[in-house]
Amino acid sequence: MVRHSSRIELSQSALKKNFNFLKKKIGKNVRLSSVVKANAYGHGIDPYVTMCEKCGINHFSVASSFEAEEVLRVAKPETDIAIMGILYDEDLEWAVEHEIEFYVFNYLRFPKVLEAAKKVGKPAKIHLEVETGANRTGVTAGEFKKCITFMKRNRNHLTFKGLCSHFGGAESQANKFKIDRQFLRFKQFAADCKKKKYQAEYLHISSSAGALAYPESRFDMVRIGVSQYGFWPSPDIYYHHLNETGKRYEKGLQRIFTWKTDIMDTRDVPEGEFIGYGTAYQATRDMRIAVLPLGYSNGYPRGLSNRGHVLIHGKKAPITGLINMNLFMVDITHIPEARLGDEVVLIGRQKNNSINVASFTQSTMLLNQEMMSRLPAAIPRKPVKF
Ligand SMILES: *Cc1c(COP(=O)(O)O)cnc(C)c1O
Repeated sequence: MVRHSSRIELSQSALKKNFNFLKKKIGKNVRLSSVVKANAYGHGIDPYVTMCEKCGINHFSVASSFEAEEVLRVAKPETDIAIMGILYDEDLEWAVEHEIEFYVFNYLRFPKVLEAAKKVGKPAKIHLEVETGANRTGVTAGEFKKCITFMKRNRNHLTFKGLCSHFGGAESQANKFKIDRQFLRFKQFAADCKKKKYQAEYLHISSSAGALAYPESRFDMVRIGVSQYGFWPSPDIYYHHLNETGKRYEKGLQRIFTWKTDIMDTRDVPEGEFIGYGTAYQATRDMRIAVLPLGYSNGYPRGLSNRGHVLIHGKKAPITGLINMNLFMVDITHIPEARLGDEVVLIGRQKNNSINVASFTQSTMLLNQEMMSRLPAAIPRKPVKF
């Protein structure tokens, strides 16, 4: 197979540390579902699911049936998969057949699910999502009674796997009043189920932020996305953790991702010449530059034009000029040992230097997970030990 213009390495040891940290924090009685939507936040569903399974993870949450199918292809047969978002009617039977759990967030869905379960001859594994204040998806209190009655009546065909909801913004302390309200409403739904003597196997409402900052919101399961990849959900959550533990810093979460490419060519540029398209960068002295074989079509943000850095021989090489569709140039005047074919680190560590996604996204106004999740699926991802 021919080579791609860049590659991503995933550290198994860092991932192990992250899960150890998260499991210790959330406690061993709470199940951890690894959220691998958006191609595992850009890390690559294929290698990532297997890496998680090596750490003992056996539940994955995805946003769509399309992603569920990707997980299904690589996961162990006994691993559980839940679709949190879109599952089209025509794929219901497929989901039931493969024992994939899925969220139901309106009453209209139930007769169709029942029909699929009867047709396939297996029970459908349902997470009933309830509206608690995010006003995204979820059945309202009014619809809830009907849903419970329907599920209870058809319990031979419908398994009540989960009762769930989603905090809208637990990352920020400023939203605390809203999160508290969602929490109370969720508990009310759970109490209603208890009263009707019809309870779900799992109660779950928290993603990373809730799971890390609000212990009482962990219930039976937490859906961990961004933090398993080594990112604190927000500064608020990080400082909350430091306060709680009395630590001055916390190294429990580590990035697992390194993005690399190679120098495609080098050249000398005389003072006064322009580099690349237009006049965005003019050489202020005689310079030596390196040409790199990727650009914005490969997920490298164009917003880093004239501002970002890459690492070559452990030294920072500033971007000169605009990020092109498939190329960009960096200044290597101060790195005389740099040669054609040398390794370039775009994100991650090289020798004693590192470029992290956060610094990278600061200047582009992209969210960490926004930038990562947009990395093209075609870039090869490979697990490495360290
Ligand atoms: C994305 C998502 C998560 C994971 O969120 P993180 O903040 O990345 O941990 C959990 N639950 C739902 C419903 C989601 O859509």
